[in-house]
Amino acid sequence: MSLDLKSLVRTIPDYPKPGILFRDITTLIEHPEGFKESVEAIAAGYRGQGFTHVAGIEARGFIFGAGVAIALGVGFVPVRKRGKLPGTTIGQNYALEYGVDTIEIHADVLDENHKVLVVDDLIATGGTAIAAVGLIRRTGASCDHAAFVIDLPDLGGAAKLKAEQVEVSALMA
Ligand code: IMP
Repeated sequence: MSLDLKSLVRTIPDYPKPGILFRDITTLIEHPEGFKESVEAIAAGYRGQGFTHVAGIEARGFIFGAGVAIALGVGFVPVRKRGKLPGTTIGQNYALEYGVDTIEIHADVLDENHKVLVVDDLIATGGTAIAAVGLIRRTGASCDHAAFVIDLPDLGGAAKLKAEQVEVSALMA
């Protein structure tokens, strides 16, 4: 690891709402070595452990998750917002600050023979990742690991995932 990956992530104030400091990974993925090193660093933690799939959470989880799946030599499962997948789906609701959202996966993609790593760009409150883990576990697949580029520990998401018996890794806080 030769780059300071954290220095390649920029923070944009007041996006998407006043008072929010948004961590923007577009500057990291625009940097060819930065993008490659971040994907490699995530994948390095999960080699040789029997994973069969990476599940990436829409939308920025697709960017890193696809790279990690290729690096591990496993398939990629898109975890999408409601209504985006063409086949039969199963869904999971989760709470937003105001209201409820739903994520979905195809119903026929995972079963008890599979071991799945969840990947997203960032964990904040953990609501999205916990919904993804719950959805994947409902298929019978094992889902006990989640990897993020950024953890915002003050928001408690990683601790909540650990309480659900999910091991969490992040490249930076
Ligand atoms: P959580 O459900 O509160 O953990 O929020 C995590 C989800 O919101 C992830 O899918 C992130 O992509 C997105 N998210 C929340 N805050 C940020 C941010 O500052 N930068 C990028 N994505 C964010």
